[in-house]
Amino acid sequence: MPYDTQPKASHFINGAYVEDTSGTPIDVIYPATGEKIATVYAATPAIVDQAIESARNAQAAWAAMSGTERGRILRRAEQIMRERNHDLSVLETYDTGKPYQETSVVDATSGADALEYFGGMAATLTGEHIQLGENWVYTRREALGVCVGIGAWNYPTQIACWKGAPALACGNAMIFKPSETTPLCALKVAEILHEAGLPAGIYNVVQGMGEVGSALVTDPRVDKVSLTGSVPTGRKVYAAAAEGIKHVTMELGGKSPMIVFDDADIENAVGGAILGNFYSSGQVCSNGTRVFVHKAIKEKFLTRLTERLGNAVIGDPMDPDTSFGPMVSERQMNIALGYVEKGKAEGARLVTGGARLDREGFYMQPTVFADVTDDMIIAREEIFGPVMAVLDFEDEDEVMARANDTEFGLAAGVFTKDLTRAHRVAARFEAGTCFINTYNDAPVEAPFGGSKNSGVGRENSKAAIAHYSQLKSVFVRMDDVEAPF
Ligand code: NAD
Repeated sequence: MPYDTQPKASHFINGAYVEDTSGTPIDVIYPATGEKIATVYAATPAIVDQAIESARNAQAAWAAMSGTERGRILRRAEQIMRERNHDLSVLETYDTGKPYQETSVVDATSGADALEYFGGMAATLTGEHIQLGENWVYTRREALGVCVGIGAWNYPTQIACWKGAPALACGNAMIFKPSETTPLCALKVAEILHEAGLPAGIYNVVQGMGEVGSALVTDPRVDKVSLTGSVPTGRKVYAAAAEGIKHVTMELGGKSPMIVFDDADIENAVGGAILGNFYSSGQVCSNGTRVFVHKAIKEKFLTRLTERLGNAVIGDPMDPDTSFGPMVSERQMNIALGYVEKGKAEGARLVTGGARLDREGFYMQPTVFADVTDDMIIAREEIFGPVMAVLDFEDEDEVMARANDTEFGLAAGVFTKDLTRAHRVAARFEAGTCFINTYNDAPVEAPFGGSKNSGVGRENSKAAIAHYSQLKSVFVRMDDVEAPF
């Protein structure tokens, strides 16, 4: 291994690396080769307790600092992240298998964007003054306290920052539990934040599987939980958080529709479908995996799609020319390959791909099914792999009803040159994040999140502040108190 992927220790608590080898070992596997590149140990109850205590002890002093001071630390961390982009991107590639071509421009950079944005915003967080005659009310925007972040494995650096940056800007402390599949990158985020001057205890990382997440969520000392994960996990975490009436943000799965009308720019629509199905080997929550293509342009669309997929460079993720890498794990690859078999069995037409690649690592081909119908499993369930389902349609009302006929509501996209139709369709989508003539943009300035079963709350943008702070109203009476007796 040319790069040292073994972290100094498994956890980062109270400003320092902490080890406890009595926890369950978690082997970290490089998806491109299947080799073990590191081992960390799941947090024991003692480690979980240490993390929560350190966060509790440190939080009040952090919240008492001015927003300008807190923001300065986040912005310093942002600069360090940008300076170390190469090393962080290499680590992200080892952790996830995503090509360096992607990680070098998306992962640490979007994490840095969040630190920059919320670092800049920290000083602007204020309450308001409400005049009531000569009396008045003022509101204070206060931190929630100790926030727990639980991550999925597809964007480990980004998720650690998207949750950490707004939480810290608002004066909270965070305990972040990365996915057990990708435990390495969040430790680097913690290291950088502390190098930038973050007080000990404000951003902690503990490793582990669902039980560790569950121990954090159910602890009465925790005030908020932000989960990025699947809908079944979301249900469990939401229910556990409800027991303690904790604040929640749920960023869950999807089966998002992308509608391509017959007047669409075909190259852009094909480009959007590629980005929304095959970037990160299809392991993106907001992917537009149900691609509704107007019958009149369907064959043209499929021809160009197949031609352009032929240009994918599948190979060593560290090679900067590689544009399509392995899946994150053998398990995830087998899930996706299982769906390919279901698609074939249900009678969908396999246009391209569908097989595992004959090489080491967890590679499968970019896969497109056409003639998919709404009732097929591959059109209903989230696959979380490089499997696109193309469905036909002819009429706008018909396609809108079909696009919205799903338990999910994370994202949706439309490709058309008709301006009015584009906005009408966007308004009718039952989804939290919509795209017109583009797909999967996720700038920090814009709210990101789902409706229906895809989630609760929003990440990024000013909207995230509401999910990491609470308002206190203070009534002030200038005249006398009138009591009835
Ligand atoms: P997952 O639901 O299996 O796990 C997510 C996290 O939850 C992991 O860290 C896991 O250890 C933890 N966890 C599991 N059970 C828990 C419990 N009972 N209590 C507390 N924590 C628990 O998801 P995954 O396989 O890691 O990620 C893929 C899923 O994440 C997909 O469904 C995808 O759509 C979704 N996702 C959503 C977004 C978004 O922003 N909406 C982004 C990325 C991924």
